[in-house]
Amino acid sequence: MARTDAIVLGAGIVGVSAALHLKARGLSVALVDRQAPGEATSFGNAGVIEGSALLPVSLPRDPLTLLRHALKLSPQSNYRLAALPGYASWLTAYFRASAPAAQAVIGRELRPILALARAEHHALAKPARAMGLLSATGYLKLYHREADLAATAVERALADELGVAYTVLDAAGVRVLEPALKPGFTAAVHWHDCDNVSDPGGLVKAYAALFEQQGGLSLRGDARSLRRSGARWRVETAEGPVDADVAVVALGPWSLDLLKPLALPAPLPMAVKRGYHVHFAAQPGVVLNRGVTDRAGGFALQWTKGGIRATTGVEFARRDDPPTDIQVRRVIANVRKLLPVGAVREAEPWLGFRPAFADSKPVIGPAPGQPGLFLDFGHSHWGLTLGPVSGRLLADLVTGATPCIDPAPFAPTRFAKGA
Ligand SMILES: Cc1cc2nc3c(=O)[nH]c(=O)nc-3n(C[C@H](O)[C@H](O)[C@H](O)COP(=O)(O)OP(=O)(O)OC[C@H]3O[C@@H](n4cnc5c(N)ncnc54)[C@H](O)[C@@H]3O)c2cc1C
Repeated sequence: MARTDAIVLGAGIVGVSAALHLKARGLSVALVDRQAPGEATSFGNAGVIEGSALLPVSLPRDPLTLLRHALKLSPQSNYRLAALPGYASWLTAYFRASAPAAQAVIGRELRPILALARAEHHALAKPARAMGLLSATGYLKLYHREADLAATAVERALADELGVAYTVLDAAGVRVLEPALKPGFTAAVHWHDCDNVSDPGGLVKAYAALFEQQGGLSLRGDARSLRRSGARWRVETAEGPVDADVAVVALGPWSLDLLKPLALPAPLPMAVKRGYHVHFAAQPGVVLNRGVTDRAGGFALQWTKGGIRATTGVEFARRDDPPTDIQVRRVIANVRKLLPVGAVREAEPWLGFRPAFADSKPVIGPAPGQPGLFLDFGHSHWGLTLGPVSGRLLADLVTGATPCIDPAPFAPTRFAKGA
């Protein structure tokens, strides 16, 4: 049996980053996953390290837009009717958190952690020799109607107040940055403090390789085998059991599979926001220099090593429900209106699960009522962005160091009655 100071469960961007930060504090660390690092949600995302992000992705509040979503007329979302009863209380909380006043509060709470996100990635990517996977070209959000640009005024005002850099562009300005885009949009906002990742799964693997070079143990095992063993935690792995004083749950959308049997005193109401991707073959001479979002079209585009990756918006369905094709079909048609692209590469789209709390913030901190157990999951639309900085905060909390930012907004106890 191996003994380490800490076990990190889950080798996505969040778990690998936590393992690296704990290792950097001098702890011996075992990183446990049932598969190789960076092969789940952290593999398939849109590849934007979104340091400029301000307001969380929200539910529309005006009745007409909501009706379009309910009638499945919008390419931005989909849902499975049979799954909705299970989402009812989560969706109610999400609707409340989507009110403008609540969004402004959440945006301000998230700003300190988002502001550190890129620097924390660079601090890992440099020693991991992975800076070549990042390009600092910012993120472009396109709008087809002046009214849609006008609707971003609140976010831009917050950006001005908090010092987040952006440029508003007309169609000609966009074409200077992205000459390959076809006409059809009227304006865009170029958010500057963002990196684009050409291989998100490869980035996680590079960080995991750095962890091993630094003496970290990378093991295969089922995290659900976690048990108390006296005052310590024990997990079964292919190499035998591992014991540690500290265990960190970083299983992304699978985190509650482990936690539910532990019956924590405070609930952790996490759901998944499903999302798909496909890759298009690039046409000769067609290049995309940065992540581009076409919200009305329901997709984001990224230039990746597998081709031009198109990711979809949100699907509300149970994590393990079978995939549907309504969003992907619409997105493929809409992408072709915006960019000359070749054939779709996959026979079946990739399906992933954004692990999300209704307030769009992760939980980072000690698990209530379980000494030595720490939580680091629920990063929603920004897990690739926030993995490394979350790892730093988590390591601060595990070791009792002064936290790099105020951890209160991310406290796992925030869902308890009266909190
Ligand atoms: C379509 C889409 C687009 C996105 N775009 C962006 C973006 O542009 N920018 C951004 O910042 N974020 C984006 N996200 C969100 C981001 O991808 C996630 O928030 C992030 O990947 C979550 O990372 P994680 O490490 O928590 O989870 P994961 O990457 O899912 O890692 C969890 C790990 O736990 C392991 N695991 C699960 N169960 C067990 C078990 N029983 N035993 C052992 N191991 C287990 C899995 O194998 C996996 O390796 C996007 C997500 C989607 C779906």
